[in-house]
Amino acid sequence: MNVAIASGKGGTGKTTIATNLALILDDMGKTVQLLDCDVEEPNCHIFMKPKIESSAPVTVLKPEVIKEKCTACGICGEVCEYSAIIVVKDSVLIFPELCHGCGACKMFCPEEAIIEVPREVGIIEKGKSDGIAFVQGLLNIGELMSPAVIGGVKKTANASDVIILDAPPGTSCPVIEAVKDADFVLLATEPTPFGLNDLELAVGMVRALQIPFAVAINRCDIGNDDVKNYCERDGIEVVLEIPDDRKIAEAYSRGEMIVHALPDYGALFKSCWERILDRYENEPRRK
Ligand code: SF4
Ligand code: SF4
Repeated sequence: MNVAIASGKGGTGKTTIATNLALILDDMGKTVQLLDCDVEEPNCHIFMKPKIESSAPVTVLKPEVIKEKCTACGICGEVCEYSAIIVVKDSVLIFPELCHGCGACKMFCPEEAIIEVPREVGIIEKGKSDGIAFVQGLLNIGELMSPAVIGGVKKTANASDVIILDAPPGTSCPVIEAVKDADFVLLATEPTPFGLNDLELAVGMVRALQIPFAVAINRCDIGNDDVKNYCERDGIEVVLEIPDDRKIAEAYSRGEMIVHALPDYGALFKSCWERILDRYENEPRRK
């Protein structure tokens, strides 16, 4: 089962939930793989402290122009949806960071003057954290092609009983790339007006993708009841409520897992998993 932990905004405890769920599942005797797909700022490693065993580059194809063949007709610039290639006078300019590697410019060049060469946009690291298989993607600084690195991380998915995927925050392309194949999405939020606003956007996203989902409320005793009221009104199950406990914040600031530092919270994450499983068994995703 592939469970993505996502959130409409950052700072809502997504990584805390992903790492502690992975740990509690491992304690329950499941084989677990944790995929950190928050490739612009992966931080599961801070808590999992994995031993990295291998690293591999992620590349995308970018166009290169063979000057001798190019007639500066401008067609490549016209077909590029991302303004990554333009023709100025008789020169073709390419902006690699904007290029999505779609291949349209090469396909439509009437002179066959465009070739494609690989360009590194990030790396994927694989390792182990005790019994948990760990993978994280790291997007190179200044790069925009996070979906390519996220896709690379997802390709490493193994045959573990459960794959926990820490998605990037938000509801844009990288998040869609991370969660689109998940069997279940757990949406992390907090009980504040911003938390509610971004939760509504995230709910819209998973509903459009037709993925079963539930909500986890972090620091559930701050703010107001608007998030809970919204979930109740919309028939959305809240499967995890983490209190605003100073001891949790202290453990977090030391880079410690909640279920390690405060074992009493283990039951909370175990119950969360059982409720996810129950929901999923009653409403499996139709792919
Ligand atoms: S489409 Fe081909 S020939 Fe035309 S400007 Fe681009 S590279 Fe040159
Ligand atoms: S590969 Fe696609 S995105 Fe990149 S320059 Fe060509 S048309 Fe634009």
